Amino acid sequence: MNLKGKTAVITGSNSGIGLGVARALAGAGADVVLNSFTDRDEDHKLAEEIGAEFGVTARYISADMSKGEDCRRLIEEAGACDILVNNAGIQHVAPIDEFPVEKWDAIIAINMSSAFHCTAAALPLMRKAGWGRVVNVASAHGLTASPYKSAYIAAKHGVVGMTKTVALETAREPITANAICPGYVRTPLVEAQIPDTAKKYDMTEEEVTEKVILDRQPSKEFATVDQIGGTAVFLCSPAADQITGTTISVDGGWTAL
Ligand code: NAD
Repeated sequence: MNLKGKTAVITGSNSGIGLGVARALAGAGADVVLNSFTDRDEDHKLAEEIGAEFGVTARYISADMSKGEDCRRLIEEAGACDILVNNAGIQHVAPIDEFPVEKWDAIIAINMSSAFHCTAAALPLMRKAGWGRVVNVASAHGLTASPYKSAYIAAKHGVVGMTKTVALETAREPITANAICPGYVRTPLVEAQIPDTAKKYDMTEEEVTEKVILDRQPSKEFATVDQIGGTAVFLCSPAADQITGTTISVDGGWTAL
């Protein structure tokens, strides 16, 4: 796959899936723009390392995906955005009647509204370039639900719906929009849920991993960030030119149940 000359902007990419996707796209030859809300030396160094490893231009732009104006500034500062990967996301686990309002607002903003703002800002650049790919990192929770994750599930279902609309609005153009729906991938986001869930179910952290987290995943294996990255690269390949407005599950069979 040769993405040389394409610029990919990956939101929330100094860790986990976003970083895996950025590395996979850089490995396929794309110049990459990494992002998170922090502005540490190590963030910029991460981009430098990816640039050196894959021989591409790699930059890090700090922008807070909970803020619409920051989302739009990210795309503006990137200058080009042939491939937009809306990946930034957070999680909070609580019953709906105890769900903190500020957590609800933050999850809806970061996990869903950022995809709206970034897509709105990126589409004119894709149109100017005559080619574009919107890849939304949704979730198996964009297609199914679990208790205690109301905001996350609302946001991810929203992203799947928005993906379809973007695909219809760009259907006659060389632009596609799709959502990758991962099952559980062992990243800091998942690690952070284990202690809370253990408390909730009165289990050890090992029991939570096996019986709660991977309970929904028939393969009984975590998906990897490389597999999500490979799926994003596939969606940018000519084989995927007619794939638009859909979801691709990378979930070890979760949504087949
Ligand atoms: P992660 O915590 O490792 O990564 C999340 C990324 O988002 C980090 O780079 C973080 O810095 C960034 N981020 C958080 N808040 C931000 C903000 N306000 N502005 C900019 N960046 C921000 O988690 P992950 O598991 O890699 O999650 C990445 C995406 O994949 C999320 O959208 C998540 O919902 C989705 N996902 C994860 C899994 C899983 O099992 N790990 C499964 C399905 C979907």
